[in-house]
Amino acid sequence: MRAILFDGTGEPLRLADVPEPEPRHGQVRLRVHACGVCRTDLHIVDGDLERLMLPLVLGHQIVGTVDAVADGVAGVAVGDRVGVPWLGWTCGECASCRSGRENLCERARFTGYDVDGGYAELALADARFCLPIPEASGDLEAAPLLCAGLIGYRAYRMTGDAHRLGIYGFGGAAHILAQLAVHEGREVFAFTRPGDAPTQAFARDLGAAWAGASTEAPPEPLDAAILFAAAGELVPIALRSVVPGGSVVCAEIHMSDIPAFPYDLLWGERVLRSVANLTRRDGAEFLDVAARVPVRTRVRMFPLEEANGALDALRSGSARGSIVLTIDRSTGG
Ligand SMILES: [Zn+2]
Ligand SMILES: [Zn+2]
Repeated sequence: MRAILFDGTGEPLRLADVPEPEPRHGQVRLRVHACGVCRTDLHIVDGDLERLMLPLVLGHQIVGTVDAVADGVAGVAVGDRVGVPWLGWTCGECASCRSGRENLCERARFTGYDVDGGYAELALADARFCLPIPEASGDLEAAPLLCAGLIGYRAYRMTGDAHRLGIYGFGGAAHILAQLAVHEGREVFAFTRPGDAPTQAFARDLGAAWAGASTEAPPEPLDAAILFAAAGELVPIALRSVVPGGSVVCAEIHMSDIPAFPYDLLWGERVLRSVANLTRRDGAEFLDVAARVPVRTRVRMFPLEEANGALDALRSGSARGSIVLTIDRSTGG
């Protein structure tokens, strides 16, 4: 099968012909239709994250059809269209797993990081971690829901009932979440890179009450803010914009260092926290909510063999919305 391999930091991704993977106990094999590209993929390529299994097939927003099932699989059958998210396996035994926080499992394995992901024609997944994709969602539209949407949703829930919601970094996750927030009657304030008028216009199109540069103060104080940007300097900026009792939620898996800031910015019971990964419950809940809104993802497509171009587009911020690799089904057999 064709797969895109990552050989190590500094190397471009490479198209290769590799043996078809065979599912083992508890696993299914998917014929991949589409795979979303996530900023986490950039962090892996850039060497920002600790573990590295090489060579690696990236990609953790996989939509595909099950084409083979090993023994020990229940609830998923050949022909089912499913999604595979970042959370690929958990131990089920550690304190986090036993307390409903499998997102924090100390032995968790992540798709496209600890195990090969979906930048390929075929991908393996633990059947228990596959999510059903609502029939109404196309493959391309559904792929970004599986990480951008899901982790965005977890971050959003951490903001409680905040009415005025700031979103710093208006890419894949933000464009999904803004639709949900507006649908629920919240006021969205979108912060982009300074001078990025097209993305600010995009945010207003999706219902943002205000859009401006991340260096600007919002026109009104925010009840909460979510950071979908990897720039640590945004943390004190966001804290400065939220009211006492408000929270700032960091949704990125990696961030540059947060500069020192005066305690006054945290004082007043402001909360600064991160969100990490997702639980299967987040997945089921969010896909249901997204179908009901309905969330419409805006997608820029790249063919599998142009994975390097897709990463470049994500890095430059030139795509409004989400980036998805499409796998040519005609050659997939
Ligand atoms: Zn992701
Ligand atoms: Zn565990």
